[in-house]
Amino acid sequence: NQHIEEAQKKDKTLFTFEILPPLKGQTIHDIYGNIDPLMEFKPPFINVTYHREQVVYKRLSNGLLEQKVVRKRPGTVGICAALMNRYQVDPVPHLLCGGFSKEDTENALIDLHFLGVENVLALRGDGMQDQMYFVPEADGHTYASELVGQIVKMNKGEYLDEELANNAATNFSIGVAGYPEKHFEAPSLNVDISNLKRKVDAGADYIVTQLFFDNSKYFEFVDKCRNAGINVPIIPGLKPIATKKHLSMLPHRFHVDLPDELAMAVMQAKDNATVRQIGVEWATQQAKELKAAGIPVIHFYSMGKSDNIYAIAKELF
Ligand code: FAD
Repeated sequence: NQHIEEAQKKDKTLFTFEILPPLKGQTIHDIYGNIDPLMEFKPPFINVTYHREQVVYKRLSNGLLEQKVVRKRPGTVGICAALMNRYQVDPVPHLLCGGFSKEDTENALIDLHFLGVENVLALRGDGMQDQMYFVPEADGHTYASELVGQIVKMNKGEYLDEELANNAATNFSIGVAGYPEKHFEAPSLNVDISNLKRKVDAGADYIVTQLFFDNSKYFEFVDKCRNAGINVPIIPGLKPIATKKHLSMLPHRFHVDLPDELAMAVMQAKDNATVRQIGVEWATQQAKELKAAGIPVIHFYSMGKSDNIYAIAKELF
């Protein structure tokens, strides 16, 4: 949050991005290979996603389905420590309600605090694939606003066991997620925004948005948030479309629309190299417009290879 305030004072737009921990069994050097070139643009912080266990199915030779619960991308906290070491940058680990009891959360926050990590993005997480709706842990949080509340308490030195209340207060800056095109479970955008306000009222310092491809959706969302009394910074999240598969995968996974012009151009592209170029051009235009509007931070979703994010940043930052 301190970085955002500084950028606002200097009337500057900062470049930030999100990375995923590597798939289990892969090396951290793959991550470094993607981050190293992006450090030229001096990101003040790097977000590191958190991936809870998933249900996966395998077809056995006898035709039956085998069900397993696996964590494909562990390592969020380790990567944060590695980023601090290698780049002297502030990592922002994502912290979920899903899979965590309140005590697990407290212990995770203590680990981060000991490492010197002072920023977290507080999220609910999605339900497991075999669940219709999100199911909290026994004694876990149901909504991200409750997780924000627990972090705020720890920032005051209040632990779950009251007898432990002492001076060891943490100092976390807290980000939360916002959805310009509405969270998929919310009955309407206005209801979703009133729930977003609960997170801010609970103590969130800033909002990072879900990816979007149409800036007018972001600007309208910001207006609605301001009218609803949400006054914290709202950082836009951009993702350059990179493959034809994204045409169906992004709307399915992130519940966002692609403008006709972009969707048509991707459909007509002769190969994925052309799609990647179209994605870079589209996201560059989006970022230019957001920068011109004086947005203090633009956040990029990298999801793997970063050459396209590099091309956008080279043009703008
Ligand atoms: P919440 O803010 O808790 O909202 C969830 C739903 O509940 C919304 O529909 C909201 O309107 C509603 N709601 C909230 N409060 C109330 C209430 N009191 N009463 C009734 N309804 C309410 N997922 C991961 O697993 N790992 C990640 O690293 C990750 N990173 C993300 C980063 C960003 C920037 C974004 C935008 C999303 C990320 N996600 C990640 C996905 C996120 O976990 C899902 O979108 C999840 O479904 C919702 O999380 P949330 O924190 O927005 O939930």
